[in-house]
Formats: sequence, structure tokens, C-alpha cells
Amino acid sequence: TRPLQRVLVTGGAGFIGSTLLRRLLARTGTRVLNYDALTYAGLIESVVDLAADPRYAFTQGDVVDAARLAEEVARFRPDTLIHLAAESHVDRSIAEPAAFVRTNVEGTATVLRVWRDYRDRVSHEDAATADSLRLVHVSTDEVYGSLPVGEFAVEGATYNPSSPYSATKAAADHLVRSYGRTYGMPAVIVCPTNNYGPRQFPEKLIPLATLRALRGEPIPLYGDGQQVRDWLHVEDCAAGIVAAAERGRAGETYHLSATSPGETPLDEWSNQRVVQALADATDALQSGASERRALIERVADRPGHDRRYALDSSKARRELAWRPTRPLAEGLAETARWYAENQAWVAAAERRG
Ligand code: NAD
Repeated sequence: TRPLQRVLVTGGAGFIGSTLLRRLLARTGTRVLNYDALTYAGLIESVVDLAADPRYAFTQGDVVDAARLAEEVARFRPDTLIHLAAESHVDRSIAEPAAFVRTNVEGTATVLRVWRDYRDRVSHEDAATADSLRLVHVSTDEVYGSLPVGEFAVEGATYNPSSPYSATKAAADHLVRSYGRTYGMPAVIVCPTNNYGPRQFPEKLIPLATLRALRGEPIPLYGDGQQVRDWLHVEDCAAGIVAAAERGRAGETYHLSATSPGETPLDEWSNQRVVQALADATDALQSGASERRALIERVADRPGHDRRYALDSSKARRELAWRPTRPLAEGLAETARWYAENQAWVAAAERRG
């Protein structure tokens, strides 16, 4: 197990990043530097409470800015860099792909270049220390494209991305693997399924549906609503990223999913079922205060919309001793409550969106 004493996290003000930082700071002896550009999706409100911890530091920086990132890496001297910074919303990638190419492809290329130079410098001082440095790159199940019912992608399956978002994430993954093969750079790729939970930007399905339901507004549902996603609670995802950083083997990829073959029962939810569960959860939160029931409104399907994502995560369960802990029904109800109770955060996010 690697100790994770000094961890640089890119994109720490985002949804998964802000949960990961909390998990890292809960470990004794771990110091964290959050390097984040604070785009519309990066909310300082998601991390302000961490500032009181002397083991936490924030710096505003862009992953495409090599000089700035190199300066922070040289100063902080991380043993681990966890790369989460990305443009992450599929609909935005369809409307405007350029920002996705910039951050997800160029940004990852920059992180790799800076990390390689840093490793080279460290290896001149001490080869063993250089060998123990790790880059952890966070990918997505969307790189595999849509899978037929009953099929689960295993690590190493063919990439088949459908959206500009998933295409740029796929390109980033290939760059990371190329650094392993070309420069012998030890990196671990973590590939989680769709996350949900507190502090997710309200353009994404679960917070969007929750907030609409809380306000008695119609909840938009793409197409027939029968698309299947594997929903992983963000705390489970963050635990998986930490496990991969601690125990993942260099050069390997680890899938993180809530539902994986061999697990009983396989529990796959359509988007319609998710949205209905959120509508029910918000109705329960508001019982007495309101008589209205949330309405689901069908809207035209997203172009290129994948029907089903599914990952086999037995490797992470076996090798990292990781497993998801939250059943979706429970997690959704708890998440709906979080959005109902954190209106100041919601207002801050909506001012940015
Ligand atoms: P997010 O959009 O909530 O946060 C992204 C963060 O990156 C923000 O804080 C933003 O300010 C920062 N950022 C964006 N561009 C930047 C740049 N050029 N330089 C520095 N920082 C920049 O995203 P998220 O949902 O937390 O996702 C984090 C990572 O996990 C991404 O790489 C994403 O592709 C991946 N992922 C997300 C999910 C999910 O369901 N949310 C699932 C699988 C994989």
C-alpha cells in the first residue's frame, strides 16, 4: 500500500473532486493540493469548508497551462497526482466540442508532460522515490459506447465513444497508456460509471430532476426514458479512486461500477425509474407542505444518445478490495434530501450555470 502523503488533485472543486478531497483529508498524514481552474462547474463553495484544514491548499490554475502546473508540482512535490479536471457534460460537448478537446485532450497531455519532467528530475535525486510516484487518471464508462443488454465491458475492451465528451476522454486514456509504454511512466487509470450524490452541478440528470421536482416543475426526460446507466454513489467512487491510488498496479485500469456480473442481484435502472424514484423522494420530503406530484415530461432524445453503459468491476473488487456500499434507492433518497437542505450551494451553482 502506498502511503499517499502528498496528493495533488486536479479538478478538486468539481463534483467527484470535492468528495475525493474530503476522503483524502480524513486520512491522517495526507496533505492535499487542489489545482482547479474554477470553470462554471468548479465551485469554491464546494470546498470552502476545507480551507480551515492546514493539510489542505487550493490554487487556481488551468491544466493546459504547463508552466503554472509545473511550478505548483515543483513547489508541492506530490507523491501522487490524481487527474480529474475535465469538461464533463455531454450536452455541452455536443453544442461546443472545442472546450472538451482543449481541457480533456490538451489538458491531459499537459499533465502527462509536466509529470514526466517532474519524475525525471526526482529520479536524478533518488530513483526509488521516482519509481514510487503515481499518476492516477480518471476516465469514464462512456469510452466504451453503448452496450447491449447483458454485456459488461471489461478492462481492455474496445473503445467506441459516441459523443465529443467520450471521444476526448478516450483520447486522454490513450495518451496516458502511451506514456506508460513509451516513457515507462507508471500510471493507473480508474474508470467509474455515472456518479450521483451531493455537490453535483445541477445540469446533470439527478440534481436537475431533484431540483425541478422540489420546485414542482416538470422533469425533462430524454426520449423514451429507457436508457440504462450504472449509478455509483460519489462516496463509493472516491473510495475506489483512493484504493486505486494506494494499491493499483502501475499500467493497469480499474473499473468501478455499482452493478457487476457475479453480483446478485444485477440491478439496472432506466432513467425513467431513476427520475420517478427522485420524484417520489422529493414528494416524501415535502409531504404536508405540498400536494403536487412531480411531472415527468418527455423531451426530444439527445443526438447519439447511448442506450446502456455497463462495466464489469470484478477486477477492482478483487485486487483493490473495493466494493460499492450504497444501494441506489437509499442513495437517491439521501441525495434528494441533500439538495433540499443545501439551498445556498444550489443558488451558488445556479448563478454559475
Ligand atoms: P465536474 O464537471 O463536476 O468538475 C470538473 C472540475 O474540473 C471543475 O472543478 C472544473 O473547474 C475543473 N476544470 C475544468 N476544466 C479545467 C481546466 N482546464 N483546468 C483546471 N481545472 C479544470 O466533473 P466531475 O463530475 O467531478 O468529473 C470529474 C472527472 O471524473 C472527470 O474527468 C470526468 O470525466 C470523470 N467522470 C465523471 C463521472 C460522473 O458521473 N460525474 C463519471 C465517470 C467519470
